[in-house]
Amino acid sequence: MDNKIIIECKACSGTGLYKGECERDKSAVVCYECRGKGWVYFSYNTFLGRKERENVKRVFNTAHMYILSHKDVILKKGDRLIPFSKMGCSYEDWKKGFIPKPLDFLVCPRLESGQEFNWEKCDEHPFGYIPDCPHYKDKELCWFEYRRIHNYEGPIYPNLWEVL
Ligand SMILES: [Zn+2]
Repeated sequence: MDNKIIIECKACSGTGLYKGECERDKSAVVCYECRGKGWVYFSYNTFLGRKERENVKRVFNTAHMYILSHKDVILKKGDRLIPFSKMGCSYEDWKKGFIPKPLDFLVCPRLESGQEFNWEKCDEHPFGYIPDCPHYKDKELCWFEYRRIHNYEGPIYPNLWEVL
């Protein structure tokens, strides 16, 4: 940490006194975080540009509770091939501004988009665990709609993030 500033203590809201479960009625204790000063030091690094991360070859949007790899993986059960090397995008492409290709064979677009994506089929399953949706097994149809709305065909498309 190369910077240190003084900030208001969050634990006591700058009062130097703490009131929790044990401090009943109009009693308080001296704040354990700032020891009664009402302020604490906050340390941080100045952002000087995104740093390189070692030991990464492939980048995904989110893991969706699956174990990910940069390599293709064959599941023992059913000998199913999980082509991770063709999903997401390479670290090099990600650094250039590409959005990782969704794990569309594992999840539906509603899950992938953090529930932003919603269409008529999603309305048929408004509550509960998303993979219990009656259309989850036919999620190719939902992905087709997702691609139509977002007007993208290819596996990898450039994002709109501003490059710092
Ligand atoms: Zn405090």
